[in-house]
Amino acid sequence: MQGIEGKVVLITGASSGIGEATARLLAGRGAKVVLGARRTERLETLSAEIRSAGGTAEYRKLDVTDLQEMEAFVRHAEESFGRIDAVVNNAGVMPLSNLEERKVDEWNRMIDVNIRGVLHGIAAGLPAVRRAGGGQFVNVASIGAYEVTPSASVYCATKYAVRAISEGLRMETEKEIRVTLVSPGVTESELADSISDEHARAAMREYRRVALPAQAIAEAIAYAVSQPTGVDVNELVVRPAKDA
Ligand code: NDP
Repeated sequence: MQGIEGKVVLITGASSGIGEATARLLAGRGAKVVLGARRTERLETLSAEIRSAGGTAEYRKLDVTDLQEMEAFVRHAEESFGRIDAVVNNAGVMPLSNLEERKVDEWNRMIDVNIRGVLHGIAAGLPAVRRAGGGQFVNVASIGAYEVTPSASVYCATKYAVRAISEGLRMETEKEIRVTLVSPGVTESELADSISDEHARAAMREYRRVALPAQAIAEAIAYAVSQPTGVDVNELVVRPAKDA
């Protein structure tokens, strides 16, 4: 299948930020989007908005840390639309802090959502994508997948892992399944709201002054999804630049 029109695209973390913008953009270009996140009231509103604009959307409650919920999410998409063409593993959290703060629960949450969540998306999505005769995974990493910054060691570690997993998946399924890693720089979203550490929160506020609109990352994802089947866009790094 060429382009975006008619493709069944699953998006995790679709209740805000980049996931929400991607859902709107892809649906606006004719994709049938299947939205997953924990805040279902937001997904319900977003699906209704997409439908009233003439698009096609389904949603299901999804906690990406739970493999069974991920499998049910994929099943829901197949039952609704008969196939799946692409999985956008986008859900993520970023509670930053220095290691010496020993916020072990937050480290584990990042590992669970950012790494296990992506692995669950692959575990549940791969058989379905194969049933459809091929397809695509778009995994959302970060510029933190290429460089480590203070207070972000665990977050960056999870994003390095997403990059490693994406490259492994690409190599193992080459020419059959397309794999795209999208790595955003600072982007407007709710991501920094999960920072409980005051020092890291203040530093982030400063760091996030120049930010991309979430739409810019949605455009990068749409670019990868829209390519002809024979074209596999492997990595896109998108950073904000100061407006002239
Ligand atoms: P948001 O906080 O706005 O969105 C994060 C999304 O992830 C929400 O929809 C949230 O939904 C979902 N999510 C969190 N935990 C879970 C879970 N356990 N199960 C299912 N969904 C979950 O931030 P962004 O849009 O910025 O984040 C999207 C991705 O982009 C993340 O992977 C992030 O790391 C990455 N990124 C963002 C950057 C930025 O500057 N914004 C820069 C680099 C990368 P809910 O709470 O409803 O479950």
